[in-house]
Amino acid sequence: MSARRERILAALELGPRWRLRGRARPAEDRSVDRRFGVDVAVADAAPGARSDTAAAALDLDDRAARIARMGWAELKAAVAACDACALCRTRTHTVFGVGDERAAWMIVGEAPGAEEDARGEPFVGQAGRLLDSMLAAIGLRRGEDVYIANVLKCRPPGNRNPEPYEVVQCTPHLVRQIELIRPRLILAMGRAAAQTLLSTDASIASLRGRIFRYQGVPTIVSYHPAYLLRNLPDKSKAWEDLCFARATVQELRAATAAPQ
Ligand code: URA
Repeated sequence: MSARRERILAALELGPRWRLRGRARPAEDRSVDRRFGVDVAVADAAPGARSDTAAAALDLDDRAARIARMGWAELKAAVAACDACALCRTRTHTVFGVGDERAAWMIVGEAPGAEEDARGEPFVGQAGRLLDSMLAAIGLRRGEDVYIANVLKCRPPGNRNPEPYEVVQCTPHLVRQIELIRPRLILAMGRAAAQTLLSTDASIASLRGRIFRYQGVPTIVSYHPAYLLRNLPDKSKAWEDLCFARATVQELRAATAAPQ
């Protein structure tokens, strides 16, 4: 079982692992399992009897499959009404994402902070102002060829780190955003974004400077702007990452424009 799967099952508090016995489930049933890394429990108990944990995993699958079929309007409405985790009780606004829905660049951050929660838009606080300056430095502007979203669409109280359960519940929204946009490049900023998209526990330092793929989309990792505000010397590394990302997008553009 992969580390990601272990984490997801742990987040769902799925204790003993149920194993499929006998007839295999049809392939189409498993497609969502593979994408979200959830190995749905199928009981080897008596017919009709299903564990609560298995039911929870199947519910998660159903929900993820429903979200995976949504268009923009339905997805926005689903996020606005989402009550899949306890963050819905403390949020002021959901923070869906903002920008060009056909952007080449997709920036993925962690979760809304206080200002984002108050305004319903990602990266509008101090970290957001730094992000805007970073984008401007490579000739990009919020909303023009850039889409900005977070792993979580609701603010964790006190800006604490996202809980694994919250990430599991919210990730299908981000996955669908990525599918609808099909950006040329994802820039995962910070640990939550990198670890969620790449299913890893590795540090940002060890992930920088490489091109990963998330659902086939080239993905580059860099520091979170809020981290950079506290660690000024690492700004030069973030600048290297931005230049690397810009060069990658340029190469990808050139590759698709080149005559076959
Ligand atoms: N930090 C994030 O990761 N996202 C925001 O939207 C704001 C701060």
